[in-house]
Amino acid sequence: MEISACAQMKSGRMSCKSMVKMKFRMMKKILLWSALSLVSTAFCADTNDSPPAFPSAKQPWKRDGQAERFAAYRQEIRALMELPPEQVRACPAASDFPGTPPADSPRVERTVVVDTRVPRWHSTGLYAAPGEIITATVPTNAVHAKLRLRIGWHKDLLWSEKIPAWKRVPEITRSFAITETVTRAANAFGGPVYIEVPRDCGLGNVEVKIENAVAAPLFEHGKTDLAAWKNELCNAPAPWAELVGNNLAISLPSANVRALDNPDEVLKFWDRVVTAEDELSGQTNRTSPERFVLDRQISAGYMHSGYPIMAWLDQANKVADLESLKKGNWGFFHELGHNHQRPDWVLAGTTEITVNIFSMYCFENVCGLPRHGHNAMSDASREKNLRAYFSDPTASWTGKPFTGLIFYDQLVEGFGWDTFHKIFIEYRDLPKSERPKNDDEKRDQWLVRFSKTTGKNLGPFFEAWRILTSEAARRSVTNLPVWLPEPDFPKRYLASK
Ligand SMILES: [Zn+2]
Repeated sequence: MEISACAQMKSGRMSCKSMVKMKFRMMKKILLWSALSLVSTAFCADTNDSPPAFPSAKQPWKRDGQAERFAAYRQEIRALMELPPEQVRACPAASDFPGTPPADSPRVERTVVVDTRVPRWHSTGLYAAPGEIITATVPTNAVHAKLRLRIGWHKDLLWSEKIPAWKRVPEITRSFAITETVTRAANAFGGPVYIEVPRDCGLGNVEVKIENAVAAPLFEHGKTDLAAWKNELCNAPAPWAELVGNNLAISLPSANVRALDNPDEVLKFWDRVVTAEDELSGQTNRTSPERFVLDRQISAGYMHSGYPIMAWLDQANKVADLESLKKGNWGFFHELGHNHQRPDWVLAGTTEITVNIFSMYCFENVCGLPRHGHNAMSDASREKNLRAYFSDPTASWTGKPFTGLIFYDQLVEGFGWDTFHKIFIEYRDLPKSERPKNDDEKRDQWLVRFSKTTGKNLGPFFEAWRILTSEAARRSVTNLPVWLPEPDFPKRYLASK
């Protein structure tokens, strides 16, 4: 997940032949870039019948019948993204997305202190203007620490052929290895500046001086003065802002934070959400915040998990709106949930089911709301889904996420969150020899562990749901009293369609 495409450009022993090849490739890139600049400039004065120079929200590029054009564009952009900083120029598409700081924005020099005990990306509150070189200066002891200088807030590439249209240039971020005391970096699209820290970096606090960047709105919980934020910092000129809490950092357009007067309350809310999911799943070794990034177009789905978690821009007015957040945000809780799932207890077909255990948990335990916060979990929907499932003996319990979720919801209702917490910890602490090796073992273990923890025989409950387990597993808990969520379950749902 942490691999950046630009990493191919660095180090490794090189033969003369590959040096020549590299020079040739470099020349090709320069030529391509010159051509691209000309073409882009030409297309900037679009007439009605000329194709748009770059994909945008107003003029997306549709893949249908355009395979060659898409492939050629990919080559052009990939070449552009590997140019050495000295040859990078602003791409005309940058002013459309991610945006350009106002022309008169001062270029600033700032020294940031990076606590290298915290791995992953450190926000700097600085922004590289498109095509402009920034420099990062580190002390000599940091030269071989595998730090990186990043321009751009995500790694979300839109090159997949499954993506039917582009609404932005498909690759817009870069990351540069820090291998000398002074590192120069530039990105044709510009972007927020980060220092990337690898795991187990033993440098302690490192001072990094960054030059020729533009100030961006940055609020850091526990560091930024709220009055200074309201009076000045929220109006820093860069087009993208960051809110950084103990457990979560959020990147969103600056326009969405210019009037934000309670960033601390927002971050405290998110810290509670991440803490809640950490607690439920038994994660006690958090070393760095999670990260949310909003983007005009993302590589998969409406949101997706990972580092960073990605969401479309239509969430920008919700992610930092405390009143909206207090009503629960199933989608964000869900994506954070993916980052807490563990393969030992995620039975086959339940990735999109068990993740919602975390959404339900946050609704109830962070927002103080009923856990059925999604329309598909309303009383009526659950009833309907149960009837549909139990009336069709061929239906798969994992076929519909909100049907499968009822199985887990019934366990929550019957035994409470504490039982889940205990069982997740049990899984977390399993020695390798006891971890399930395949899905049969996963189902067996879920049955046996849940039965033993609750002191109830859940064999008949699993059988009712048509979840296969071995006879040996079922037999191992027959000494316990049988538990069902309601008498004669699922008889009531079999009665009518
Ligand atoms: Zn999901």
